[in-house]
Amino acid sequence: MTRLRVIIWEMEKIVSLQKSALKEISAAKDLDELEGLRRKYFSKKSGELAKIIKDLPKLEPEKRREVGQLVNQAKVEVEKALEEKSSQLSAPSSQLDWLDITAPGIPTPEGHLHLITQAIREISGIFERIGFVRRRYPEVETDWYTFEGLNMPKNHPARDEWETFFITDNIVLTPHTSSGQLREMERGQLPIRMINISRCARRQSDISHVPIHYEFEGLLIDKNVSISHLKGVLTHFAQEFFGPERKIRLRPYDFRFTEPSFEIDVICHLCQGKGCRFCESGWTELGGAGMVHPKVLENGGIDPKEYSGFAFGWGVERTYLMKSNVNIPDIRLIYKNDIRFLKQF
Ligand SMILES: [Zn+2]
Repeated sequence: MTRLRVIIWEMEKIVSLQKSALKEISAAKDLDELEGLRRKYFSKKSGELAKIIKDLPKLEPEKRREVGQLVNQAKVEVEKALEEKSSQLSAPSSQLDWLDITAPGIPTPEGHLHLITQAIREISGIFERIGFVRRRYPEVETDWYTFEGLNMPKNHPARDEWETFFITDNIVLTPHTSSGQLREMERGQLPIRMINISRCARRQSDISHVPIHYEFEGLLIDKNVSISHLKGVLTHFAQEFFGPERKIRLRPYDFRFTEPSFEIDVICHLCQGKGCRFCESGWTELGGAGMVHPKVLENGGIDPKEYSGFAFGWGVERTYLMKSNVNIPDIRLIYKNDIRFLKQF
């Protein structure tokens, strides 16, 4: 063969090798077959393209350049095709291969009501079932509804107990829900069965107090209302909220807006009244109550000779913490809004 014919022969061989390699690669059905093709063209010993590359140095320089260029180009093309086919064969072939309709789903994270909202709903529910109606009265209130109208004239020392935020001499941030009593009486609709649940503010912050907290206030006014009615309503609440075994007792106390006045204790859930380190006496204090003072009835436009009534009220947070299955060491945790804490309830 002449030199020129040898070159043409070499070049034709390379072109046809590249062509058949690309055809075979595209037809390959799996990775094993593809690996066989890689060996067929590139194995060091017998690979068809590898052999030509290996023999390049034996060619004369000008022939080497032309053949070398062509074979290198073929090598790049075939390697690229091998690469593409390999990733195509490793990838999932269709949607149905990876879709397992029996695998469990990923649950959507679910929130819940804040524990104080839950407590408020539970408390209103208990009173609504015996005919009380939920009300909300202003969180910023005048001195009259907060103190004076409730039989605590200006400069009376009893006011000190409420640790009040004064906006002006006459305007306060409501320190107790009792400020709703006169507003309810002024509506002029008798008899009254109200449960006022609202935000209250006091200058206190420690493990059992927060400056803004929720209180609830019950007020019942009708003809011939007596202390036994009060005790019946409070027993109903304690047993519904804390559990049927939780008894209550009334202990004489002094409030300016009720007469007689009581503090309500509920039997300790740890010792069932025997007395333990937590309660000492077998009882834990729940809140205050009493028969509405005749002067307060008069201030609300109600004739105390015809009507009588009782009121009770205390903090929602505190009541919730007294549930036997709740163990929160610091009341302020409730309002820190740490999701890890709130998730537990
Ligand atoms: Zn106890």
